[in-house]
Amino acid sequence: MIAVDERFCPKNHACPTVRVCPAGAIVQDDVRSAPRVDHGLCTDCGLCTRSCRAFVQVEDPVRTPAGVV
Ligand code: SF4
Repeated sequence: MIAVDERFCPKNHACPTVRVCPAGAIVQDDVRSAPRVDHGLCTDCGLCTRSCRAFVQVEDPVRTPAGVV
């Protein structure tokens, strides 16, 4: 499962990784907010994790540290 680690996002620009996602699964509500992943659309292809370090693969969402959504 892909999560967004907000610690690595400055939240001050339009997220360029939105355009990287072939599934349209990355949503940014506002340029001053971190992007989020629509898990209903995400196919776990991993392309976003190669585009920006804020996108991380998490094995166990229950153990995901605070700040990672
Ligand atoms: S893993 Fe692939 S489908 Fe999922 S958000 Fe990242 S780029 Fe989009």
